[in-house]
Amino acid sequence: MAPSTLHPLPFAHWGLGLGRPLVIAGPCSAESREQVLDTAREIRERAPQVRAFRAGAWKPRTRPGGFEGAGDPALEWLKEAKAQTGLLTITEVATPAHVEACLKAGVDMLWIGARTTPNPFSVQAIADALRGTDIPVFVKNPVNPDLPLWMGALERLSDAGLTRVAAIHRGFHWFERTPYRNNPMWEIPVRLKAAFPELEVIGDPSHIAGDPALLAPVAQQALDLNYSGLMIETHRAPAQAKSDARQQITPADLARLLGRLEWRRASAGPALRDELQEHRDLIDRLDEEILQKLGARMEISGRIGLFKLAHNIAILQPERWRRIMEGAHAFGQVQGLAPHFIQALMDAIHDESIRRQTEVWEQGRMGAGIQVSSGNGSGTGHNGPDLS
Ligand code: PEP
Ligand code: MN
Repeated sequence: MAPSTLHPLPFAHWGLGLGRPLVIAGPCSAESREQVLDTAREIRERAPQVRAFRAGAWKPRTRPGGFEGAGDPALEWLKEAKAQTGLLTITEVATPAHVEACLKAGVDMLWIGARTTPNPFSVQAIADALRGTDIPVFVKNPVNPDLPLWMGALERLSDAGLTRVAAIHRGFHWFERTPYRNNPMWEIPVRLKAAFPELEVIGDPSHIAGDPALLAPVAQQALDLNYSGLMIETHRAPAQAKSDARQQITPADLARLLGRLEWRRASAGPALRDELQEHRDLIDRLDEEILQKLGARMEISGRIGLFKLAHNIAILQPERWRRIMEGAHAFGQVQGLAPHFIQALMDAIHDESIRRQTEVWEQGRMGAGIQVSSGNGSGTGHNGPDLS
């Protein structure tokens, strides 16, 4: 990877009176003048830690027909919210026309959304529209877990002369079941930070969690990893929200959440201890992901067990397992893993997989509805689990 050319300014040098942690709150979408003003006022009253008010004026919807944002009038409501509360304003831009409208309306800061970051043409068009302005811009991670795309978007802004750039971690689309709406994959923002040490990264636990119940642990994790702040979707009446209704919280709940989080002091303890803690937190997250993947793998083993039972195929297929082990050794060694470790790990996985499949067979035999055929009626003609 090419050496970093990104030298973003820290929040403290953005000239906006910002420091760490930076807390941004506000609704997913600006829906009406009243909704924007009520929410901003209530945030101001209840959560003094909040420095900036967010609201989307143009909403990227997965399918047409949903609420696509109020558009340009929303920028006027943001301006009013700022005048009434003193909160800085921030909104999402996806096109040069959005940029132009925001600059004209005096929006303080912008963010590039997770569906725009992965498109280099869009990001370049936005960067070109921003050339010569130096308005602060946050770049959300791309929806797909692709670190270079995230880096590339930040570099395009930096190459256009912007110095007030930062990143927002909002999690990644994932095809396996996870407890989250968007899989956090903490190692990706950690690697981003390793590539660009000066970059401020804030967390967006709302879009990671997708559910207020998960908000606190995700927000705490971000703070434990030394993030520079948080962006939390907050709506005066979440159940009535026109987008992301499930994940938004009220200003009162926001205040409670912010009060409960443990904030790291920027200079807490010796730097060494902080670094150790960051690594430990990351290891904890990776262990969780390993277990999640093992869970998914064993679920599939169980399904294969059912299939073998239905077709009267032996559980143990030595040739198949020999090929799996060959592949695991080749792949594992590329990952820097020792052969004895690969062997022990894969043996443990194999044992558990056989146990699962045997369990499925036993349940099937006990009359869970699957008829075990006898004789050579189907499959390979093997009969029953062959564990020898
Ligand atoms: C949002 O912040 O409301 C939004 C659309 O986020 P993302 O781009 O992360 O999906
Ligand atoms: Mn949203």
